[in-house]
Parts: sequence; C-alpha cells; structure tokens
Amino acid sequence: MDNRRRIFLRNSLGVMAAGCACAMCGGANARTLQYEFQATEIASRTWAVHGRNEYFSLENGGNIVNVAFVEVPEGVVVVDTGPSRRFGEQLLRLIGEKIPGKPILRVYNTHHHPDHFLGNQAFDQSLVAAPQKVIDNISSEGNAMADNMYRLLGDWMRGTEVTVPGKALDAQSEEVGGRQFSLFYLSGHTSADFVIRDDETGVLFSGDLAFLFRAPTTPHADITAWRSAIETLRVTDRDLILPGHGPSDGRGESLEQTLDYLDWLDGSLRESVSKGWSMNEAMKTPIPPRFRALDVVDTEFERSVVHLYQQLEDELMPSIQISQ
Ligand SMILES: [Zn+2]
Repeated sequence: MDNRRRIFLRNSLGVMAAGCACAMCGGANARTLQYEFQATEIASRTWAVHGRNEYFSLENGGNIVNVAFVEVPEGVVVVDTGPSRRFGEQLLRLIGEKIPGKPILRVYNTHHHPDHFLGNQAFDQSLVAAPQKVIDNISSEGNAMADNMYRLLGDWMRGTEVTVPGKALDAQSEEVGGRQFSLFYLSGHTSADFVIRDDETGVLFSGDLAFLFRAPTTPHADITAWRSAIETLRVTDRDLILPGHGPSDGRGESLEQTLDYLDWLDGSLRESVSKGWSMNEAMKTPIPPRFRALDVVDTEFERSVVHLYQQLEDELMPSIQISQ
C-alpha cells in the first residue's frame, strides 16, 4: 500500500480499511479452503467483507469482491454473495457470529458477474432478489460463468451451482424488516446493474458501477451507459459508498476514479482505432501515471482492448472510410 492510499483511507474513514491487496485484506487459505474474511463495520450495524483487489486465483479462492450485510430491526439484509457456494456458506456463518439469532430477510444481487452471485446457493432462494434483467442475465450466462470459475478456482468451487434469484424487483424502494431501502436500476458495467441504498445509514451499495484503487473490468460494458450511471450516482444522496471492489468510500472518489478511467479508456481506444492500429498495437498504449496506482491495471487494460476494440472498429471504421 502506498502513502497516497494510506492518507486517503485514514482521511475518509478515520481508520485503515481493508480492500486493497495489502496484508490487512481478506484472503483465503488454499490448503484448508477457508476464506479469511475481514468484516469491517462501515456504518452502524453494517459490515463490509472486503476482498482483495486481485484477479481470480487458486490462492485467493475468488475472494476478490466486496459483499455486505446489514442488521435491520427484524433481521438481516445481504448484498451480494461471493464467488462460490463455499464463500456463501462461510459468509452465512460470519453473519451468524456478528448478528446472532436474527433471520436473513433479503439477499440482493447487484449484477450477474460470478464473483457477486455464485454464493446464492447458501441462502433461501425465495429471499434472493434482483431486477428481472439481472435474473435473465444469470439465467442465460450463469452456467458458462460458473464453468469458467471452476477452471480458475478448482476445488474452491466444489458443489457450486447457479442459483437464480427467486424474486424480481421493479419498485423504487422496499421496506425490509423495518428498514427502507432505495433501489436504482442502472446499466453500463453490464446490461443490468442494481444499486441499493440503505435510507437509514445512507450507505450506497454500488456494485461494480464503482471501483476504487482497482482497474474496472469491462467484459460486458457499455461505456456510454456506464458514464451516465455514474452521473446518476454522483447526485444521489448518500453518506458512504461501498464499491464492488476496493475500500469503502466516504468522499465519492470511487465514482470520480471510475469515470476518469473510463473516459481515458474510451478516448485511448478510439484514438488507436482512428490511427488504424491493431489490437496488439493498442495494448501497448502507455497507461497514464495517475492510473498506475490502480491494482491489476495492466491486465485489465489488455482485457478491455479485447472486449471493446472490435465494437469500436465497427463503429468508427465506416466513417473513416467515407472521409477518405
Ligand atoms: Zn462485475
């Protein structure tokens, strides 16, 4: 962890937060297949379990994602369930230790990426809720994603099967166990990104629309829609953001950093296409110094070129040919 991050975390939270790839972050023990969760109380009776700012590996068991749970008057609300059945089961045990004796009342899935929903299996399916489009995405792509996770994580995934949310949401808010939650239906990181705000504490669970100190991932991204979603979140009342990856964020820096990166990524790729560069040439574009502090930025930039380049060539090349 560099000094800039230390200063940011101290200033924004008053304490060191887990979330980046430092010794304080949650990890995993590949020998015992135990996740080493670090639950941080980020707001009153609200815990975040911060994963490492890494890519999936046998060492981290897929513990690279932020999940959260909130004690409400009559029970517990969970946001995202992690990358495997094992993660979901261990998360459920952790919830029981922090909030003994209260039932799980609701489990939200923010989007269909496998690190966010494959732990659903540990929970009662009828309590797992998401917008219909997120449910559709999990139904259509979940199995292929789970297969890929088995390849990446091996034994960590044993017994994991796709559990589709049992309840579709479309209301602007819902009351769960005596607590009001505002619900936001956005897109851009994927075709359906669901954001939840606890109206009591002001914690905004942004899912992967916001990353902090980790380069954003783009396999299903629509950059224009993503920028628009961030604009919406920028003006949404909140006291704290829990990004999908990275430390909790009291200042909105996750939104600014993600937007800045997306602006650069889109501009850089458009410039490469307009110069007629190949994908391999585009991958050699220098990454600006302000993004060098983002974890896994080299890997994610290369992946983004693969994800987005063809689409931009299709969009931009006809106009270049006409202008010639
Ligand atoms: Zn994602």
